[in-house]
Amino acid sequence: MNIVIAGAGVAGVTAAETARQVNPQADITVFCLERESMYFRPRLPDIVSGNLAMEKIFAHPDSWYQEKNIELRKGETLVEVCSDNNQVRGSLGSRLIYDRLLIATGAESSRPAPVNYDLPGVFTVRHLYDAMNLHYEAKRSKAAVLMGAGLLALEIGCALGALGLAVHVLERADRILPRQTTPASSARLKDHLTEHGLIFHLNSSLTGLGGQDRLQRVELSDGSHIDAQILVVAAGVTPNLELAKSMGLRTDRAIMVDGYMETSKPGVFSAGDCAQTPDGAGGLWTIARAEALIAGHNVACPPEERKVYQPQAPSSTLKVAGLDLVAAGNIDPDNKLSSAVHESDGFYRKVVVDGDGLVVGYTNLGTAKGNRELAAALGKTRLPGDILKALSDEADFDFGRLKALSS
Ligand SMILES: Cc1cc2nc3c(=O)[nH]c(=O)nc-3n(C[C@H](O)[C@H](O)[C@H](O)COP(=O)(O)OP(=O)(O)OC[C@H]3O[C@@H](n4cnc5c(N)ncnc54)[C@H](O)[C@@H]3O)c2cc1C
Repeated sequence: MNIVIAGAGVAGVTAAETARQVNPQADITVFCLERESMYFRPRLPDIVSGNLAMEKIFAHPDSWYQEKNIELRKGETLVEVCSDNNQVRGSLGSRLIYDRLLIATGAESSRPAPVNYDLPGVFTVRHLYDAMNLHYEAKRSKAAVLMGAGLLALEIGCALGALGLAVHVLERADRILPRQTTPASSARLKDHLTEHGLIFHLNSSLTGLGGQDRLQRVELSDGSHIDAQILVVAAGVTPNLELAKSMGLRTDRAIMVDGYMETSKPGVFSAGDCAQTPDGAGGLWTIARAEALIAGHNVACPPEERKVYQPQAPSSTLKVAGLDLVAAGNIDPDNKLSSAVHESDGFYRKVVVDGDGLVVGYTNLGTAKGNRELAAALGKTRLPGDILKALSDEADFDFGRLKALSS
């Protein structure tokens, strides 16, 4: 069986590894647009700050691919698929016949209109070379503006702050990390990051850029401006759909797949940031990996042995300026559900339950205590009233009590 995979991020490589376990005989070829093999994208902020040695960012040495008998075509994009005769073409001229195809082309950073970002000094951070270029530019700059106050922006902002730059964060909403925090935890986080030097501009958006040969000024919606040599656009991602569209696959926000991670064309699968499962969640490393474990199995096994993807609750972690933030599932920022909230000097915790007491979401800010137990309880454990009360009242709640409830 010939298995061809487009994309060598966490989805493509996890799928290739899983396919190899399921089918030791298959020929597995992975097209890898980037010149480097798979690396830990969530660690790019450490490359920006210079806190991570380059070799530590790679997931596997080249020998790993050889040992697994996975042919990794570094620097070669899969540019064309002809599904009439199951043939693919790579940008360096390779032509291959496939029996099964997996599209794991990921996403690119969005650059929202109407500003023209085509000016030296403007960055997005999606690839290793983006992070390296930003690091070098930051070392000769004094001030940076982050467009957006999401997880990526805050991590990059802290990395630039660590290099000594004045860092301004623009956010259109009235609070930071609107998707991963409640109003209370957002305010706490903002205070903490302000103490660490980040300068926040809420209810504010970018209206223009100034500078002749390179960026010198960022103009804001209130008519003011910031003198800055760097702008990092961190305004979400856009799935890479060119290949899927050229093949006529059904797409919505991303490539639509069923529970088997199969696209609208039989034998063609998809996983990761370019795929859209029926539950609609995506854009996270953990979800890309979980999808790829199923897609990699199904791409390599007989139809009767296929597995079904079980949706994962989105879970985000922010680790900056000595403060941990974890948010998973529905953290109910508008307080429509029941919850147990504990706030003390050191930390903020919220555990959200549905009408039956089932844990549907949680967030911990300033502490990692309970993260493991809460992750295990999410979607599985019902909390009685006395436990909810103890979670609200007791700073040192004994999370062992949750384990007892789930067993
Ligand atoms: C700076 C940063 C920090 C992040 N932090 C977190 C975090 O803390 N937690 C979290 O859960 N998630 C985080 N994410 C998101 C996470 O990294 C992504 O969800 C994950 O990488 C998606 O994996 P993927 O394999 O689907 O796509 P990608 O990682 O985008 O990989 C797809 C690969 O395919 C290549 N490609 C595209 N088209 C082709 C083609 N035609 N042929 C061959 N190759 C192609 C792309 O160049 C890319 O290398 C972060 C992302 C960034 C950028």
